[in-house]
Amino acid sequence: MMDNSNSKTIVWFRRDLRIEDNPALATAARDGSVFPVFIWCPKEEGQFYPGRVSRWWLKQSLIHLDQSLRSLGAELVLIKADTTLDALLECIAAVKATKVVFNHLYDPISVVRDHSIKQKLGELGYSVQSYNAELLNEPWEVYDDDGKAYTRFDAYWEKCLNQNKEPVSHLPPWRLIAAAGSVKKFSIEELGLENEAEKSSNALLGRGWTPGWSNADKALTEFIEHHLLDYSKSRIKVGGNSTSLLSPYLHFGELSVRKVFHSVHMKRILWAREGNSTGEESANLFLRAIGLRDYSRYICFNFPFTHEQSLLTNLKYFPWNADQARFKAWRQGRTGYPLVDAGMRELWATGWVHNKIRVIVSSFFVKFLLLPWQWGMKYFWDTLLDADLESDILGWQYISGSLPDGHELERLDSPEIQGFNFDSEGEYVRHWLPELARVPTEWIHHPWDAPSTVLKAAGVELGLNYPKPIIDVDVARERLTEAIFIMRGTESAATARNSNGAGEVVFDNSDCNASLAIPKAIPKEKAPPCPSSSSHDQKVPSIRNGAMTKKRPKPEEEERPVKDGIRCQKNEGVTSKMDDELCSTAESSSMKKQNTATSSHSFSVPEAISITSSVKSFEDNESYDIKLQRLKDCEIDETSSKIGAFGGRE
Ligand SMILES: Cc1cc2nc3c(=O)[nH]c(=O)nc-3n(C[C@H](O)[C@H](O)[C@H](O)COP(=O)(O)OP(=O)(O)OC[C@H]3O[C@@H](n4cnc5c(N)ncnc54)[C@H](O)[C@@H]3O)c2cc1C
Repeated sequence: MMDNSNSKTIVWFRRDLRIEDNPALATAARDGSVFPVFIWCPKEEGQFYPGRVSRWWLKQSLIHLDQSLRSLGAELVLIKADTTLDALLECIAAVKATKVVFNHLYDPISVVRDHSIKQKLGELGYSVQSYNAELLNEPWEVYDDDGKAYTRFDAYWEKCLNQNKEPVSHLPPWRLIAAAGSVKKFSIEELGLENEAEKSSNALLGRGWTPGWSNADKALTEFIEHHLLDYSKSRIKVGGNSTSLLSPYLHFGELSVRKVFHSVHMKRILWAREGNSTGEESANLFLRAIGLRDYSRYICFNFPFTHEQSLLTNLKYFPWNADQARFKAWRQGRTGYPLVDAGMRELWATGWVHNKIRVIVSSFFVKFLLLPWQWGMKYFWDTLLDADLESDILGWQYISGSLPDGHELERLDSPEIQGFNFDSEGEYVRHWLPELARVPTEWIHHPWDAPSTVLKAAGVELGLNYPKPIIDVDVARERLTEAIFIMRGTESAATARNSNGAGEVVFDNSDCNASLAIPKAIPKEKAPPCPSSSSHDQKVPSIRNGAMTKKRPKPEEEERPVKDGIRCQKNEGVTSKMDDELCSTAESSSMKKQNTATSSHSFSVPEAISITSSVKSFEDNESYDIKLQRLKDCEIDETSSKIGAFGGRE
C-alpha cells in the first residue's frame, strides 16, 4: 500500500536485480516515489573487475530488470561514473531525494565502499537505509556460545537451522511512482559491459542461459518440480544438468535465497511426511548447498583477509612454484590429464563447470602444479559466468588445505582415478577433448598407459596432438610432500622465533595486505560510527575469534605445446572415495591438520589473466602483486582458535 507521502527515494541496485522479495525496492515503493538507479564504476572494482562472461550476464540482467521496472512505472537509470558516491549525490540533487536505500553486499570491496558511502551521505544529512536481500542469515547474526565466529561449516549450519528464525519475505510492489528529475543517463551499451568484438561470441551464451529475474524464477520451479528429487544421486554426475544451475541467478540476486530455501524446505516436509527418503535427502543436501553460499559470505565477513590469505596460517609458508608455463598449460587444458583438460576447456568455452570439476581442476592446480591458489581463484573469477568472490574464495580455500574442515593439504587425488569415478564412460572427456574421442574407455583417462597400437588406431600421438602428462603422479606426490616439509620447517622456525605456541591458527593478517589494491575491510571496533544506523544496518567486519548443457563452445586460446612430462604410472596407493565432495565444497574429509610455518615467496598473477577480462583500461589495475615477503613482518597470533570441520560425508 502506498501512503502517498512525498518521500522520494533513490533505490540503488547492485547485485539484487529482481523485483520480488527485494526489501530496498519494496520499502521505497511503500514510502512514496522512487528513482531506481544502477551505477557502474569500473574503477571501484579494482582487480576484481568482472570477467567477460560475467559482464555479459550483468548486461542482459539489467535490460530485463529495466523492462520489469518500466512496466511497473519507473525506469532503471543507468549511470557510468568514477565514483559511486558522486553518482548518488547527483541523483539525490536531481530528484531532491531525502533517502537512499540499497541491499547489502558482503565482498571485501563492497563492504568498505558501502560503509564509507553510508557514512558520507549520513554526514550530509541524508537518510540511508540498507537491507538483507542476499542471505538467510546476516554474517553478524550467527556466533557460537562464546560469541566467536564459526570456522567449521557443520557447526555453523546446525546453528543456522536451529535459530528458529522465520525468514521474512517482501511482497513485490504492484506499481511504482517514478520520482521526477533528470541526470545524465547512459544507455546499456554506453556502460561498456561488452566490447563490440565480444558480441558475436557472447551471443552464443544466450543459447544456453537466459539471465533475468523472471527466468530465474522459472529455472527454480523447473528444478524443484523435475530435478530436486534426484539431486542426491545426480549431483555427482559431471556432465549434463545434474545440479540446479542456479548459481549465476543467485550471484546477481535475480533469485531470492529466502524463496529458494522456503520452496525446497516445503518439498522436504512433504517428502518426509510421505516417507520419501530419497526426496528428503535430496532436499537436505540442496539446502546445505544453499547454506554454503551463506557460509562463503560469513567467512569473508568475519575473516576479511581471506580473499588473499588462507584462513589457516599454514599456507603462508608454502613454497609456491610461480611457474607461468604451467599456469598457461592449465588454463589451456594442456596438462595431459584428460579430466583436468576437459574441465578447463569447458570452463573457457562456456563459463561454467560442475562443482566436482571445479574441485578437480583446482586441486590439480595446487597439489600437482604447486601454483599459488590465489592465481587460480583470480582465473576463475575472470572466466566463470557465476563468478562470485566469496564462493570462489571458499572453494579455493577448501581445496588448498586452508580450511580446517576442507581437504587436507597432503591429500592428492589422481585425476586418472577421479576420471573413472566421475566420468566412467569417458563421455565428458570425449565431448571436450575431441582429439581423444576415439580412445577406448579403458584408456581414456590415462592415455599414456595405452599400448601404442591402441593410440595409433585412435589417431592420438602423445606430445603431438595431445600432450604427455605435465607431471607424473608419483613425482607430483614427492614434490608436494617436499613442499609441505619445507612449509612445516619454516613454520616451526617462525614459531620458535615467536616462542609462542603452534598449531592451526586463524588470525587477522589483513594489516599485512596494505600494498594490495583491494581495500581493507574495517574491523567494527575501528570503524567510525555511522550516522544513520538502525537494526537493519549492515555491519562491518569485526574480528571475533580472538584475533582474526547449457553451454556452447568458443574458440580456444592459441595453443602452445607444454613441456613433455614424465611417463605417469598408475598408482594404486592413491585413494579417491566416491562419496568424497559429492556435491559441494562442504563435503570433506576428517581433519588432520598439521602445524606449520615460514618461507616467503613473492608472486603475482601473470598478465594472461587480465587478458581474459579484455578491458584494456584495467590491465594496470590487475597487477595483483602479492608479496608474501611482507608477511614476514606479521606476527602469528597463537591465541586464535582452531577452526572446525565442514563435516558431511566423505
Ligand atoms: C574452486 C571453486 C571455485 C568456486 N567458485 C564459485 C563461484 O565463483 N561462484 C559460485 O557461485 N560458486 C562457486 N563454487 C561453488 C560451486 O561449485 C557452485 O556454486 C556450483 O557448482 C554451482 O552450480 P549449481 O548452481 O548447479 O549448484 P547446486 O549444486 O545446484 O547448488 C545450489 C546453489 O548452492 C550454492 N552452492 C553450492 N555449492 C556451493 C559451494 N561449494 N560454495 C558456495 N555456494 C555453493 C550455489 O549458490 C548454487 O547455485 C566454487 C567451487 C569451487 C570448488
